[in-house]
Amino acid sequence: MTAQLKTPAAHPLDHLKIANSFAELPSSFYTRLMPTPLPAPYLVDASASAASLIGLTPAALASQELLEALAGNRLHPNSTPLAAVYSGHQFGVWAGQLGDGRAILLGDVEAAAGGRMELQLKGAGATPYSRMGDGRAVLRSSIREYLCSEAMAALGIPTSRALAIVGSDQLAMRERPETTAVVTRMAPSFVRFGSFEHWYYNNQHDTLKTLADYVIAGFYPELLAAANPYQALLAEVTRRTAHLMAQWQAVGFMHGVMNTDNMSILGLTLDYGPFGFMEAYDPSHICNHTDQQGRYAYNKQPQIGHWNCFALGQALLPLIGSVEATEAALSSYQAQYGAKLDELLHAKLGLATHQPDDDKLLDAMFALMQASHVDFTLFFRRLGNLQLDGAGADTPLRDLFIDRAAFDAWALQYRARLKLENSRDDSRKLAMDDCNPKYVLRNYLAQTAIEQAQNKDFSEVRKLLEILENPFDEQPQHAKYAELPPDWARGLEVSCSS
Ligand code: AMP
Ligand code: MG
Repeated sequence: MTAQLKTPAAHPLDHLKIANSFAELPSSFYTRLMPTPLPAPYLVDASASAASLIGLTPAALASQELLEALAGNRLHPNSTPLAAVYSGHQFGVWAGQLGDGRAILLGDVEAAAGGRMELQLKGAGATPYSRMGDGRAVLRSSIREYLCSEAMAALGIPTSRALAIVGSDQLAMRERPETTAVVTRMAPSFVRFGSFEHWYYNNQHDTLKTLADYVIAGFYPELLAAANPYQALLAEVTRRTAHLMAQWQAVGFMHGVMNTDNMSILGLTLDYGPFGFMEAYDPSHICNHTDQQGRYAYNKQPQIGHWNCFALGQALLPLIGSVEATEAALSSYQAQYGAKLDELLHAKLGLATHQPDDDKLLDAMFALMQASHVDFTLFFRRLGNLQLDGAGADTPLRDLFIDRAAFDAWALQYRARLKLENSRDDSRKLAMDDCNPKYVLRNYLAQTAIEQAQNKDFSEVRKLLEILENPFDEQPQHAKYAELPPDWARGLEVSCSS
């Protein structure tokens, strides 16, 4: 009798050809370690749209094997998991070394559209960078990150993606005990501004150069042709950050914790925590309950984006070579931001041309919105229904204002401005609906889905994801998801606790 050898079961990520580009950097950039297994994991939800970016089929997404892999319980043989080191400025103060305290990089895979995607398990256990933390993420914050990553992508805003959430009954202590989860995040790279600051403030300029060369070769190869590629890198990251800030402002997105360790070197929205979408318009709104000074208030985001680019510039200075060249790379921020915001706001108002008095029209509009605490998303969406002649269609829009006469006066100016460029109601509405979302991830919607998920009903997470994947579509069957938040939502607070 001969013994039979069994072929080991294929790993669900096998056909994705896992590589470890980041792990090829010197070992000072990270600590290799295994994820801590998540007990009895279950799938909370998975994003087919994120999966398609790396060629994962829906069948693979639903498999038990993948569940185990995304829980960190079953490692791909080619994967050399690691936690990366970085530092950063937190709330404007140098915080020293931080690092992946609960995120573990599995490796990178080929992206369907070309390039590579890194796969990272957030909440996969303690690392040498966990400091006082437990290395876990709770289901609540994992659902928020998952939904918002995918919602931002659908809004056309650069962001890290979220492939899936895997939950567990294991508890972690926050303000109260909460169940834990792991989100699989994807981005071409998770390198942060703080990754550069780390080597600069540790006076290790050779290692700083290694990192900059890695980022340029992998993600900005076109900059190699520049006279000073490090200066070109800073200029390009500055440009992307300025554009990202304009996109956040135009959709009313507030990040909440714009520390330099949360700023992506690729200009992606990264590290979703106490974020929010503007509802009743208040430019000084602070979405993060922990941010008592309002450093990261809505109207501060653009200048903080600039401040963060300066922090990156400081760190890159030894490579760039001179203060003048560094300042030159940073100098276009305001103009880049202003031009992008102007372009986005014109599109939001359905304006095809630029006229000298447009700023006045916009300022007056924002002042009215603020005075009446008008819901940001509803206002722009309803504005698309305004008709050039006859105020009949204005009612739902007008009803958003306390001071209706003031709105009427503004609408008169707006109509005159539209007529100046021979705007047509039908085509303008179509164009406006394509850039003014009907559906955004309002805190109360996330909260409702979270509470149901905490009771093991994940259907609301699924439903919300499906709605948010098509934010510009009417979806009349889901109209209530576009309504004003209910009264109970007024007291909702989000903090850094996650
Ligand atoms: P964040 O505010 O989420 O960007 O996190 C800031 C730093 O704290 C990063 O180094 C995180 O990895 C770390 N951190 C946050 N929460 C935890 C946790 N529960 N366990 C370990 N580290 C954490
Ligand atoms: Mg972070």
